[in-house]
Amino acid sequence: MSVNGRILLFAVVAIGITAILAGTALYTTRMDRQIRERVIASQNQLESLSRLKAGIWPFLNALSRLREQGQDTTALLQERATRVLAEQTQLSLNLEQEEEEINGMGEFKPRAREDEEFNQIIQALLRWMERTEEKVRQDSGRKPLPPEEEWGFYQDYEKEVGQRMTSIEAAEREELEWMQRRWDLNMARLVLLTKVVALGSIVLNIALALFILLPLRSSLRTLRTTAEGVGRGDFEVALPARGNDELGLLAQAMNRMASELRGTLQEKQRLLEAEAEASEREARRYSAMLEETVRARTAELETANHQLEESLQQLRLTQSQLLFADRMAAVGRLAAGVGHEINNPLSYILSNLRFIQRELGREEAARLPEREEMLTAVNDARDGAERVRDIVQELKTLSRPDELTLGPVDLRTVVQGSLRIASQELRGRARVVEDFQEVPTIQGNGPRLGQVVLNLLINAAHAIEPGRAEENEVRVLVRASGSKSVIVVVSDTGSGIPPENLERIFEPFFTTKPVGMGTGLGLSVCRTIILSLGGTLEVESEVGRGSTFRITLPTGGDQTAPTAPQEPGT
Ligand code: ADP
Repeated sequence: MSVNGRILLFAVVAIGITAILAGTALYTTRMDRQIRERVIASQNQLESLSRLKAGIWPFLNALSRLREQGQDTTALLQERATRVLAEQTQLSLNLEQEEEEINGMGEFKPRAREDEEFNQIIQALLRWMERTEEKVRQDSGRKPLPPEEEWGFYQDYEKEVGQRMTSIEAAEREELEWMQRRWDLNMARLVLLTKVVALGSIVLNIALALFILLPLRSSLRTLRTTAEGVGRGDFEVALPARGNDELGLLAQAMNRMASELRGTLQEKQRLLEAEAEASEREARRYSAMLEETVRARTAELETANHQLEESLQQLRLTQSQLLFADRMAAVGRLAAGVGHEINNPLSYILSNLRFIQRELGREEAARLPEREEMLTAVNDARDGAERVRDIVQELKTLSRPDELTLGPVDLRTVVQGSLRIASQELRGRARVVEDFQEVPTIQGNGPRLGQVVLNLLINAAHAIEPGRAEENEVRVLVRASGSKSVIVVVSDTGSGIPPENLERIFEPFFTTKPVGMGTGLGLSVCRTIILSLGGTLEVESEVGRGSTFRITLPTGGDQTAPTAPQEPGT
């Protein structure tokens, strides 16, 4: 049964019992009151009857005394009759009250015609009093009533009134006893009712506790414990869901809620795990991406670093080239001035020397005694002057490299020409190895390039002591380097260049050769020419093992415009 039903049933039973008990109590109390009123009325009647009885002898005595005194007894009669009538009124009232009370008492049977009885008694009493007073009044003798006469009057009274009064009294007393028994019974009922009420309350309370409160308390405690468990996150609960009452429904709802929470928790955990897995995967991916980025950035940085190093190298080279160009500019200005100053007198000297040489070669001059010595001296002077002219020419080249006229040049032909010219110097010093490959033509100036290669070959020859030609080698290599440039390499197995000199060999007038043998202009002129053609001239050397000079020139297709070393500020 549902809790509501139980409470309702309990309430109905409680109200019913209470109503029954209250009704019984009300009835019993009413009965009690009626009995009490009835008892009082009976007692009043008995008292009235007693008073009437008690008034008989005083009435006779008073008549006797009045007769003795010779006084009128009529007044006494009236006065006594009035009292009797008053008692009659009192009795009537009592009877009315008694009847009122008796009307509500179903089981009480009143005596029939009680009022009539009382009236008859009163009438009989009044008649006896009138008769007695009349007899006393007619028999006047100024003497008290004799006791036998007085007793005779009383016996008349007993016969006419007293016996009936006594029987009524007896009946009234019987009624009174019945009432008292009834009153006792009522009181016993009331006590029993009180006990029943107390016991009923206890029983009801016990029933309430046993059938409603205790199971309710137990179920609520279980529910509370379960709810606290659920609150703490323990969703593994299964309440016994007995019956279809509110507690059963509540237990079912709690089980359903716990089950849903369990499902939600599992779902949440699954989501969290998936999220964690996704985060981990993302972190791994991010980490891999980061590593890849770092690797790429490192590679970029390395490349940038490399480029920076190259730029630094280039800057250093440019700086040295600028310094070189600065010096070259100074030298160029000097050379231009000196060359200009030297050129005119030199042309006179040469033309005069050529004239003298020509004149000395004539037949007429054959007679001159020191003609041969003079011819030799003139020849030497002419060699010297031509050498000066060459130096001036080189100085001019050094100072004005941009004056070169450019055209397509086959480097192999150029190199072969230079080798032919240098063969005299190379012979007896080293084997010459030619390693030529097919190369594209370049844009350049053939004679100047020939001058460069020749200078390198002469330097190579000078680096090798003569006499051990088989042990030494001068190798000349012509190759294409990729599709955009051509290289010419001149290497020897000569003395090599010490590191301290390696940085200075391209400076103008730097030479390690004895005076008269070298001017120190060769390599600087070579570099000037190569740079003016957009190429580079590099050297590697090791003392005791030889040197390698590498010319790199751009091919015709990608050739950049020749650039001359710039003077600072120009
Ligand atoms: P020069 O030949 O008049 O001395 P260069 O400018 O041609 O002037 O050469 C400068 C110097 O470089 C030389 O004096 C020499 O010391 C050094 N040199 C050049 N080429 C070689 C080489 N192949 N082997 C050794 N030293 C060399």
